[in-house]
Amino acid sequence: MSHSDELTKEQRGLPLQSPSYPLRLSRRTVLRALVGAGAGVLLTACGGDRLDPFASNGQPTPPPSRSADEAAGAAQPQSQVDQATSQSGEQADGGVELPEPLVYIIPSPASQGQTVLVLIEAPGAHAASLSWQGQAFSLLKSEERFLGFFGIDANAPVGPQSLGVAVWGPRGEQLLWQETVIEIESVEWTIDNIQIDGPNAALLEPAIRRADETARLPFQSSLTPQLHWLGVFDPPSDGQITALYGEQRSFNGGPIEEYHTGIDFGGETGSSVTAANSGIVSWAGRTRRRGNGIIVDHGAGVFTGYYHLSEVLQTAGEVVEQGDLIARMGATGLATGPHLHWEVVVRGITVNPLPWLQLLEFPDPFQELNPTNALTSTNLAQGS
Ligand SMILES: [Zn+2]
Repeated sequence: MSHSDELTKEQRGLPLQSPSYPLRLSRRTVLRALVGAGAGVLLTACGGDRLDPFASNGQPTPPPSRSADEAAGAAQPQSQVDQATSQSGEQADGGVELPEPLVYIIPSPASQGQTVLVLIEAPGAHAASLSWQGQAFSLLKSEERFLGFFGIDANAPVGPQSLGVAVWGPRGEQLLWQETVIEIESVEWTIDNIQIDGPNAALLEPAIRRADETARLPFQSSLTPQLHWLGVFDPPSDGQITALYGEQRSFNGGPIEEYHTGIDFGGETGSSVTAANSGIVSWAGRTRRRGNGIIVDHGAGVFTGYYHLSEVLQTAGEVVEQGDLIARMGATGLATGPHLHWEVVVRGITVNPLPWLQLLEFPDPFQELNPTNALTSTNLAQGS
């Protein structure tokens, strides 16, 4: 398992948010210390109490003179857009001129099952938020960059979808409010008919699936305003991948009612299951469909889930490092044999895990950005 992530950021020359971050300590030590202190690990909430963008519910705290709706990215009257636009480049605190924020949506267009990364280069800015499908959430700050992720469901509607971004300056003034469109493209997922016999057939009941999802939802849909990892995720098992994400599934010849929300690794009962990346265990328990499971919160709305385990070796609240042994493979719940079902959840949506393993393009929040790829006024429509 790779532990080279700490080098990655150094090599890229990206200074850490906190200059006192002790790189030589193990990630676990640092995480424990910082989590205990309620601080971010690599990315911290902005210091100002007045405009803490990371409210507990993940909603941006509005600047003092603005309404909650505006701060949450709701559409504004044209006069306010003009005002906001006119503030770009104006003198901020200390007479420093703030450059216009550069907004990157990666990738765009995006396809079903994909993770979308939003990066905003906004030197001197204090907070930024994203509005997507009726949800608004704060972007995390790393030096002069704001970052955030959202997921596209495997069966999400295709076509153009609107997306809004807002950026605030140090005095709570709005530097940017822009709305743009991201095109969602369809993917032809494979179709599989799975035969489930014996006592497990009772677990196909939709009510059981819904109860299972409801039980796990609160532990994989919050927005922890820290990023607990830096680099590519590791496969959580040494086993072969036996099923891919997105596969449209029918059971016992019935209609297609669900898709495969993660990837499966084959193996033997008792084989090691390791944390795909560093984070904090948000849930460890058992549901009827998924059997024994564990969910790790990696921060920034990114979670990984591990299911059908024979044994869970961590409890909620534990800090885990990439590669740590967290569980053992099994066949609990609705499983036809021992395997690990592993999924990646981004802002509550199960996404294709392959990019997170860099088997497809990794959604790297620290990647180099080319200003020519930033959205421009021609593809950024002003809010109306
Ligand atoms: Zn699976």
